Amino acid sequence: MPKMEILQIPVLSDNYVYLVHGNASGQTGVVDPAVAGPVLAALKDKGWTLTHVLNTHHHGDHTGGNMELKAATGCTIVGPRADAARIPGIDVQVGDGDVFNLGGQKATIFDVPGHTRGHVAYWFQDAEALFCGDTLFALGCGRLFEGSPAQMWNSLQKFLALPDATRVYCAHEYTQQNARFALTVEPDNRNLVARAAQIDALRRKGVPTVPSTIGEERATNPFLRPDSEDLQQILGLSGAQVVEVLAETRRRKDIF
Ligand code: ZN
Ligand code: FE
Repeated sequence: MPKMEILQIPVLSDNYVYLVHGNASGQTGVVDPAVAGPVLAALKDKGWTLTHVLNTHHHGDHTGGNMELKAATGCTIVGPRADAARIPGIDVQVGDGDVFNLGGQKATIFDVPGHTRGHVAYWFQDAEALFCGDTLFALGCGRLFEGSPAQMWNSLQKFLALPDATRVYCAHEYTQQNARFALTVEPDNRNLVARAAQIDALRRKGVPTVPSTIGEERATNPFLRPDSEDLQQILGLSGAQVVEVLAETRRRKDIF
């Protein structure tokens, strides 16, 4: 049996909530509980006891279940120090470089602002799992509601430094729409064309396209590829600074 089990729970229209369970310790965390009901049902189904909420950022579709879960289970709520005031019920504040121990499963914390001012990601190195909230999506990145392109690029570079095999557990099923956009800015990327076809096939069957891997994202996600000459050329930004390229890619996606 693997040391850490991850259960993906689809909620609302396109959110993913994740249970992370350490088999040795019996501790269980829930990442970004948008709502409490489906989380409590999944816990009951698995026979697991919730010990922690791990929030990536303050948005309601990531923290909406916090208080009900805390009332029901007495769990500890962990969230970004940089945004502690906006995380309902926060008990433990974490920030860049901290290591959070979920019953022996260690998660390294990254500060990844851009989508919001205080956004963190949880990287479980041994389990090769990254919980990145709304910073990185399969073939996309989060909208820049509270941050700049430079901040977002700095954040995304932290993910680019991770091993290719790292699974990317993002918080929304946006992949098919992201693929359509990605193909407009890198139409000749053969890896992207092949991946888009796979995604269409999965969605036709109603199967999640998440998690992907850092390796797949590195090869096909335009927001991780501002140094691509083809991408730069299509944007009319050949030789431009990568932050400028990322900003233009994000701007075009916003109006796609
Ligand atoms: Zn969000
Ligand atoms: Fe969200």
